[in-house]
Amino acid sequence: DYKRERWKVLGAIKDPKKTVVGFVAPAVRSVIASHYKLPFDKASPFIAGLLKKMGFDRVFDFCFAADLTILEETTEFINRVTNKGIMPQFTSCCPGWVNYVERRHPELIPHLSSCKSPQQMMGATVKNHFSEWANIPKKDLFVVSIVPCLAKKSEAAREEFAPEGIRDVDCVLTTTELIEMVEITFTDVNEVELSEFDDPYKQVTGAGVLFGASGGVAEAALRMAAEKLSGQAQLAQLEFEAVRGFEGIKEATVNLGGNKLRVAVVSGLHNAEQVIERVKEGVDTGYDLIEVMTCPGGCISGAGHPVPKKIDSLEKRQQVLINIDKTSKFRKSQDNPDIINLYTEFYGEPNSEKAHHLLHTHYFNRKGKITKSSKMGDSVFKTQVIEICVCEKCIANGVGDFIRALNQKIEERKLQDGIRIVPLHLKDCPGKEFLIKVNGIKVSQTELDSFLRLTRPVEMEPISEGA
Ligand code: SF4
Repeated sequence: DYKRERWKVLGAIKDPKKTVVGFVAPAVRSVIASHYKLPFDKASPFIAGLLKKMGFDRVFDFCFAADLTILEETTEFINRVTNKGIMPQFTSCCPGWVNYVERRHPELIPHLSSCKSPQQMMGATVKNHFSEWANIPKKDLFVVSIVPCLAKKSEAAREEFAPEGIRDVDCVLTTTELIEMVEITFTDVNEVELSEFDDPYKQVTGAGVLFGASGGVAEAALRMAAEKLSGQAQLAQLEFEAVRGFEGIKEATVNLGGNKLRVAVVSGLHNAEQVIERVKEGVDTGYDLIEVMTCPGGCISGAGHPVPKKIDSLEKRQQVLINIDKTSKFRKSQDNPDIINLYTEFYGEPNSEKAHHLLHTHYFNRKGKITKSSKMGDSVFKTQVIEICVCEKCIANGVGDFIRALNQKIEERKLQDGIRIVPLHLKDCPGKEFLIKVNGIKVSQTELDSFLRLTRPVEMEPISEGA
């Protein structure tokens, strides 16, 4: 079982100083629909009404963050394609997958999209943009993410997602916890008034809703990449059924004029190894974009949902999302009017400096034994930080190969537990030499080599009983 956070949320709801903001992942509503026997078109308004009845002050739709993720991640992907950056690009919206890369295959880090997951994008946007928009100080906002996922609980607790000690997401509730809270608070679901999600993130698209099932991220990205790369706003194809479903690896190729866009979707972590090995060997995998979701079938089978009684329940959960997409007013993330407003008012444009600051992140090489002392955020060892510029010019000059070689050296010297490589996106980088900093001090490549030679491996503590 896992740590429940229900009482923390109920405490915040009772605290008059707190404005409690909830946002609900797409896969949660498909389970809530079947749990309370609702038709698919009532799932979203029911869950918004339910949370308001329970005392949440504002309720937003996680699909908005999914749309935001598509704008950021697809722009990054298009930049990699047009600037011949590190390919293929792996998606980064599943924290279970990101943990796996950091702990088992850190060589893949340059291939991971630098985008935060939708949960963390939404948290950062609420604590920064909404705080300004609604004139509520950050410290008075209590942000609750309602998701199907246990990995998102540890993701929200990562220290890089708590700038100045204030977490972007204060609590993470699973679908199961939400259903338990309905019971604890004796909320009568028959009295729930159907409601809309709140401004300023009210509008969502069908593409964002599809995030809840395997293939949804890739399909939403294709709807944007196809439009941007072909220059045609009216796409002949909106639905990419080849990437949907429960198969371990699915593929789709989209022809855009003379170019082909090759996409793979990995459903379930155990199916990722064969793709990973080929990428690590530097073999052309035949793919440009690879979506990986830890749970088979995607978030609809996340461990935070109640266990489905029959296997066809998963298909029904997926169908709810497909039906919502089909009947949505907007079906491409880039058409979402509230997303367009958010960029106009706040972020400027996708991948802008502000967007990089709030919506993107960096990953750490965490390969090695998991010990008490190497748990996230409570290491007793000082970590050495190597920052390297990965702007477009540096990517064009081969910084990807340089980082891969550096990772190899770090591993050969068994330094991976004490060194973090952090990508920088310098605006005015001359791009002649890679800009490298060690613990904040600019160094040359020769000085970096000396630093690696002189650094001792971190001594790992043995795992203690019950750790
Ligand atoms: S696929 Fe599973 S681990 Fe990944 S985000 Fe969804 S629920 Fe979480």
